[in-house]
Amino acid sequence: MAAEIIDGKAFAAGLRSRVAAGVAAMKEAHGLTPGLAVVLVGEDPASQVYVRNKGRQTVECGMLSFEHRLSAEASEAEILDTVARLNADPQVHGILVQLPLPAHVDAEKVINSIDPAKDVDGFHISNAGLLATGQKAMVPCTPLGCLMMLRDRLGSLSGLHAVVIGRSNIVGKPMAALLLRESCTVTVVHSRSRDIEALCRQADILVAAVGRPRMVTADWVKPGATVIDVGINRIDAGEGKTRLVGDVDFDSVAPVAGAITPVPGGVGPMTIACLLANTLTACARANGLPEPEGLAA
Ligand code: NAD
Repeated sequence: MAAEIIDGKAFAAGLRSRVAAGVAAMKEAHGLTPGLAVVLVGEDPASQVYVRNKGRQTVECGMLSFEHRLSAEASEAEILDTVARLNADPQVHGILVQLPLPAHVDAEKVINSIDPAKDVDGFHISNAGLLATGQKAMVPCTPLGCLMMLRDRLGSLSGLHAVVIGRSNIVGKPMAALLLRESCTVTVVHSRSRDIEALCRQADILVAAVGRPRMVTADWVKPGATVIDVGINRIDAGEGKTRLVGDVDFDSVAPVAGAITPVPGGVGPMTIACLLANTLTACARANGLPEPEGLAA
């Protein structure tokens, strides 16, 4: 039987409307409007597109959107100063520094200068530590989105074997920490792992976050497994055109898996929706208000 296609676009639209309802309720009951500030350094075209989309969706949800654009030559001190001003600004509940930063800037130093309570990307070392120790944290948006889709499809994840391919700080590691918190048995495989295929074949939940087009093929997947494809790879489509594919070979895996996220239209749309959810959660926490349900991990 063919896999259920998990529609990330529709799921993200539903999440955004829950966030918008939460924002409206917060305005009505407390006169508070959540605000998200994005810092963009340089002119990277992909980053500019992301930032534009984030700004538009922030406003559509009824939140305040602030954009701070600095030139590619901006010094580290200038960037740190911008973050410090946003940390002190009561209208700003979430701060996102768009990565990558130019090579002359210490990205870790910049990220760790963000007030952890406003770190809606969840990359600050304090939030990574809180998540790793099973405490309340700001959770990175992409793995948060994956978890929401997994819970929606599978209900309780307890006891399931989850295999995460990739160990980045942005996706693989926080994904593994979240799945462990859900009482999965978690295996993380990476570029140095041996016999990856056999490990992946044991997975009830398979999350691919690698950056290698169509690496995961049907023979890596246990029949009925839930497959979450985080990869975004642009490949040559002939005639001077390109197209996006994931880390999973969708056409061969879909007939074997129980459910699968497509690329595009799977994990991708969930990332910005989770950023908005994190901003609303951050605003509620900053003001000592109850957190809107179903938005945090
Ligand atoms: P990364 O380059 O930081 O990490 C890749 C990981 O894959 C590493 O841990 C590495 O050990 C592992 N790896 C590399 N080659 C491997 C191999 N042959 N076998 C097994 N593991 C291997 O990348 P990242 O930031 O984690 O992103 C991974 C992918 O997810 C990329 O395609 C990226 O574009 C995509 N991504 C998507 C979203 C989204 O919103 N959907 C968000 C973040 C990243």
